[in-house]
Amino acid sequence: MLRDRKIRFLLVVMFTFCFGYCQTTIVSPPASSDSDSNTIEWIKIKESVWIHKSFGSFDGKTYPSNGLVVLANKGVVVIDTPWTIAQTEELIQSIQSKFQKEILFLVVTHAHDDRMVGVPSFQKRNIPVYSTKQTAKIAKEKGYGVPSPILDIQTRLSAGNVSIEVFYPGHGHSPDNIVVWLPETHILFAGCLVKALEAGDLGNVKDADLLQWELSVKRVLSRYPDAEVVVPGHGNWGKLDLLRHTIRLLITPND
Ligand SMILES: [Zn+2]
Repeated sequence: MLRDRKIRFLLVVMFTFCFGYCQTTIVSPPASSDSDSNTIEWIKIKESVWIHKSFGSFDGKTYPSNGLVVLANKGVVVIDTPWTIAQTEELIQSIQSKFQKEILFLVVTHAHDDRMVGVPSFQKRNIPVYSTKQTAKIAKEKGYGVPSPILDIQTRLSAGNVSIEVFYPGHGHSPDNIVVWLPETHILFAGCLVKALEAGDLGNVKDADLLQWELSVKRVLSRYPDAEVVVPGHGNWGKLDLLRHTIRLLITPND
């Protein structure tokens, strides 16, 4: 009897231990860069141009988001902020430790949180934040800070040995979306106007104009036919076929 009880006790202990252990093993998240992680990723496109990849949520799901870091002789230019304040702080500190250069200015490509939520982190360090008038107006209404509205339909900014051209092609993903062209490296940062090849739909279309969007993408195609690299707002970078893929999604949005 006593022996039976001992065996039962041992079985309970073993079961509890195994269950606890197995459960822990099963529910452990996979080792990957994940959602709530505040860690940004760096993707090198050319010697002087990097993607800063951050993570944020939309409709309860986690998505990656792309911005650019452009190195010039006089300092660094940042295109769009990461998707959270914490990741923006990390980006600014990483730029200082990785490149030992000051940030000359930030360009934001439209007034959505994945482009602008980190603006206060730049402004509190007195780093200029540039946008178009339209973006500045929407940003003010949405509480994303107040960028300097110095950009026009087409503006070329100088950052020492590097030029940064911005171009407003018309309404697409949002009424104010602009693209950024780096003439020396032939890199086109197309932002959320353009979808990655792996994107099967148009993503967040709450501020989109589904009729104008195609024409706006075509304007970018005809203006920058010699783009060698195209960086979308979300997903993998590629070539000009990302623009043609976006047009296909617009023509057959349910594909
Ligand atoms: Zn957007």
